[in-house]
Amino acid sequence: MELWKRFKDPALAQKLLQELKGLCQGSSQRPTLMEVCGTHTVALSRTGLREVLSPYLDLRSGPGCPVCVTDDSDIDLMAEVARQPGVIVATYGDMLRVPGSYGTLLDLKAAGARVQLVYSALDALELARENPRDTVVMLGVGFETTAPVAALAVQRAASEGISNFLMLSLHKTIPNALRALLAENSRIDGLILPGHVSAIIGEEPYRFIAEESGVPAVITGFEAVDMLLGIVELVRLIVAGRPEVLNAYRRVVSPDGNPRARALLEEAFRPVAARWRGLGSIPDSGLALAEPFAAYDALQALGLRRPEARPPRRGCRCGEVLRGLIEPAECGLFAKACTPHSPVGPCMVSSEGACAAHYTYGRNG
Ligand code: SF4
Repeated sequence: MELWKRFKDPALAQKLLQELKGLCQGSSQRPTLMEVCGTHTVALSRTGLREVLSPYLDLRSGPGCPVCVTDDSDIDLMAEVARQPGVIVATYGDMLRVPGSYGTLLDLKAAGARVQLVYSALDALELARENPRDTVVMLGVGFETTAPVAALAVQRAASEGISNFLMLSLHKTIPNALRALLAENSRIDGLILPGHVSAIIGEEPYRFIAEESGVPAVITGFEAVDMLLGIVELVRLIVAGRPEVLNAYRRVVSPDGNPRARALLEEAFRPVAARWRGLGSIPDSGLALAEPFAAYDALQALGLRRPEARPPRRGCRCGEVLRGLIEPAECGLFAKACTPHSPVGPCMVSSEGACAAHYTYGRNG
C-alpha cells in the first residue's frame, strides 16, 4: 500500500515529512532516535515509516518488548515452575516459544507439563477457581501496562480467599531501564517514549531523562501520523539543543497518568532489582509482591530460587538489539538460522520483537 494511504490525514503527514527533511538537512549530524516501546517498533515497520525516514535519521529499537527483555535465567525459572507437580502454568502466548535451557514452554507442554495460554492474569485467577485441586501459577511478564491487572488479580484472590493462585512476578518498570540504557549508549540523541506505559505513569517519571542525560524525549501514540508528529517534535528539540520531555499524545496521556492504576501497583507490588536481557540487573526496575500479598508469591510458596544469570545463546545478539547498539540484520543469524518460524532469540519470537518486525515487514517478509 502506498505510504500516504496509511495516514488518516495524508496532507498533514506530507507536510510533517517535509519539515523533518528540512530539520535533518540543516543539522550537522544525522540524529539517532530510539523507539522504546515494542508496539512502536512494529508500527514503524508495518506502516513503512521506518523505511521512509531512513534517509534522514537512524531509528533504533529499545528495551520495550516485555518478552524480549526477560532474562534467560527467568525463562529457566518459568520452566522450573512448569515442572512442579500439581502446577498449572498460565502464560501469555508470546512466552510459549522463547527457548531456554529446558527448551520452550511448548516443548514442556508436549512432554506433559500443564501450560495454559491466558490473555490476562484475571483469566489465570478464573483457571484457579475452576481447578481447586491444582495450583495455578501466573507467569507475570510485562510493564506498567500489564501489571495493574496482575495487581487486581492478586487482590481479588486475597479478598475471595483463593489459595491455589500464585504469581511469579517478573513485571518490569520502564524509567530505571531508560536510565541504565542512557548511561551506556551515548549514541542516542532522542527517545520516543511509549504511549501505553505513559498513559499509566504520566509524564513526571521521565523528567530525569532530560535533566541527567541531556537527551530530549517525546511521548507519542501509535497511529502513523502520531508517530511522525512525535518524531518531528523530537528532532526539533534535538536541533534546537533543548533537552526536554514533551507529551505529544495528550488525548490519551495525562500529566499524572492513571491514578487508579498507579494505586493498584503501589498497593500490590514493591520495587525490586530486576534482570533485563542485555542490560543486566537494574535497581528498582522490577515489581515483587508487597508484604500483604506475600502468600501469593510463587517463588516463596513453591520454595524455588532464581537460577544464576546465564550467558546469551551462542550467536544471538538480542542484548545488543535491545540496547540499540545494532540493527537486527547485523546479527549473523538474522533471516538465516533465526526466523519467526525457527527463532533463536526472543526478539524473533515476540510479535513486538525488533527482529520479528524487521523480518516480517522488511525485505525478508
Ligand atoms: S536475529 Fe535471532 S539470534 Fe539474532 S539477535 Fe535477533 S533474535 Fe537473537
